[in-house]
Parts: sequence; C-alpha cells; structure tokens
Amino acid sequence: MSTKPIGIMGGTFNPVHHGHLRSALDISDALSLTNVILMPTYMSPHKASNNIDTTHRLAMLKLAVQESPVLQTSDYEIKRQQVSYTAQTIDYFRAEHPQTPLCFLMGMDSFMHFTTWHRWQDILKQCHLVISPRPGYEIAANSDAAKLLAAHQTSSVESLHRALGGFIFLHHAHPLSISSSGIRDLQSNKQPITFLTPPRVEAYINTHQLYSAPI
Ligand code: ATP
Repeated sequence: MSTKPIGIMGGTFNPVHHGHLRSALDISDALSLTNVILMPTYMSPHKASNNIDTTHRLAMLKLAVQESPVLQTSDYEIKRQQVSYTAQTIDYFRAEHPQTPLCFLMGMDSFMHFTTWHRWQDILKQCHLVISPRPGYEIAANSDAAKLLAAHQTSSVESLHRALGGFIFLHHAHPLSISSSGIRDLQSNKQPITFLTPPRVEAYINTHQLYSAPI
C-alpha cells in the first residue's frame, strides 16, 4: 500500500498563530500529505480551561486557513462537547478512512508528555506521530518519550505512506518561537501581536477584545 497520508493537528488554538500554520504547511510539503486538518479541542485534558468561547477559536482558525489549499479545519471535537481525548478523535478518523495512513502532528512540548495521554498506545497503533521541534523543549535521555521514540522512530517518508500508523517521525525544521500564551500575554499588556498570527486573526482578536484582560 502507498497512499498519501492525511495530517491532523489538534490543539487549543487560543489563538492560532504562525507557529502552528508554518509547521503544518512545512510538514505537509515535506511528507507529501493530502492535507492537514487543524482541529480545536472542545476541552483539553492537558491544558487548563480558558474563557475563550470555542466558537471564537474555530472562527479564528477558519480565517487563518481561508486561502490555503492544504490546511483545513474540523469542528469534530467541538461538536462532541466533551473532554477531547485524541484517542477518540483518531478512532473516528480511522473509521472514516480505513485504508489511509494518518499522521498526527504535535510539537515537542506535547510529545514529551505523550505517554501520559489517555490510550496513547492505541493512538500510536492507529496513526503515525510527526513531531515538530519547539524552542526550549528537548527530550530528556532515558525519559519515557525518549524510549518510545527509540522504539518507533523512522526517518523514511515512504514508511509513513506504506503503513497506516505506528511510526514516529521527527521533523527537522527551524522552529518558530511563537506560542498562543505569548500572544495572550502581549495582548493583555496592550503590546502589538502583528506578524505572530495572520492579519485577519489579529483583526478578529481586536474586534472581539478576546485577550484584553489577563487570562
Ligand atoms: P499555549 O501557549 O497556550 O500553551 P500553544 O502555542 O502551545 O499554546 P496549542 O494550540 O496548544 O498552542 O498547540 C497545538 C499543537 O501545536 C501542539 O502540538 C503544539 O506542540 C503545537 N505547536 C504550538 N506552537 C508551535 C510552534 N511554534 N511550532 C511548532 N508546533 C507548535
């Protein structure tokens, strides 16, 4: 079997920024993915809940990918209105695409804690993991994440196209030091966020005064 994989990037996207977008696009190109679906969580099991309505986070994502032929959005987790476990989301995508490899994209900050995720073994069986570097996050030698990486790592793009899941691929790109929390901090301190997120998203944040109070 050799079928182009579908990419999925989950996250809070509070708000979406160029770190998300650039790494999704870069990985899509490097791995010849069909597309990358950006999916905001309804409620993350890993991050504290926030005051920003899910409709705002989804609306910003839609604005961000409006003109991209590669990046798409999904409201699957938002519509379920439950804590968003990646394992359940991947079950859903696997059932929808039984013969297509799936690549779940995440930053190194997320991968470092992956072995604490609900049913992480099932996630790795059902899809590949593609990890982006993030400034300030390195895997500690002998950590669970390092052992998992050693057992499943591939540097072959072809492997990701041939198997439905089970591999971990480290994407070597220059990481962008942008985070949603950094944007929220700047905005609440009345500092400009220009060039950190697409202009339409910046305008949306300003129109709705999303992060003007400290969160
Ligand atoms: P926060 O600052 O609120 O913790 P965040 O910037 O990490 O948020 P999320 O929406 O939580 O953004 O991240 C979704 C996914 O995107 C995660 O897997 C995260 O590791 C990854 N990601 C976030 N920022 C970057 C970046 N600058 N480069 C590569 N991957 C990123």
